[in-house]
Amino acid sequence: MLNLVLFGPPGAGKGTQSENIVKEFEIIHLSTGDIFRHHIKESTELGKLAKSYIDKGQLVPDEVTINMLQEEVNKHDNPKGFIFDGFPRTTAQAEALDAFLASKNTSISGMIALEVPEEELKERLRKRALDSGRTDDADPEIIANRIKVYNNETAPVKEFYGRQNKLYLINGLGSIQDITKEIVKTINAL
Ligand code: ADP
Repeated sequence: MLNLVLFGPPGAGKGTQSENIVKEFEIIHLSTGDIFRHHIKESTELGKLAKSYIDKGQLVPDEVTINMLQEEVNKHDNPKGFIFDGFPRTTAQAEALDAFLASKNTSISGMIALEVPEEELKERLRKRALDSGRTDDADPEIIANRIKVYNNETAPVKEFYGRQNKLYLINGLGSIQDITKEIVKTINAL
C-alpha cells in the first residue's frame, strides 16, 4: 500500500495538492478537517463537539479524532492506499496511526511536508475566507491561534517521521502544478 501523510500549516495547500495526488496514484484522500466539516453540516453529535473546538482555532481532542479516522479507514475494502491530510496533528495521533496501520500489516510510506512562510499563510487564509465560508478562516485571532497550535503541537510530528527517515520537505511556494510535480517525483522515488 501507498500510505502518505500530507503535512503543513493551515493554508499550506494540503487540500489542493491532495486532489492532484489522488488523481495520479488512485489512493483515498482522508482529510480530518473535511470530515469534521461534513459532521458539522449534518449536525451530528460529533459535529457539534468538533465545532466547539474548531471555532476557537483549537484541536479537536485526540481520542475523538483518532476514533473517527480509524472508522473512515475501515470503510474501505482493499484500498491501494491513503493520503492523510490534516492528520496526524499531534505526536499522540502519529503514534496511534502507526499502531493502527501496523495492526493492518501496513505502515506510512512517507510524510510530505509543505513549507510556506507565515506571512504568506496569513494572506492565503484571508483570501480563502472570502469564498470558502469557513468561519475559522475569517477571524485573524482564530487564524493566529491555529498557527500557534500548529507551531506548538503539530510541528513536532515532523520530527516524529524524521526519526523514522520518512520525512520529505517540499517548498510550498510556487505554482500549484510545479509543487504537484515535486510531490509526484518524491512519491515515485519512495
Ligand atoms: P487547516 O489545515 O486549513 O487549518 P483543516 O481543514 O485541516 O484546516 O482543519 C480545520 C480544523 O479542524 C482545525 O483547525 C482543527 O480544529 C480541526 N482538526 C482537523 N484535523 C484535526 C486533527 N487531526 N486533530 C485535531 N483537530 C483537527
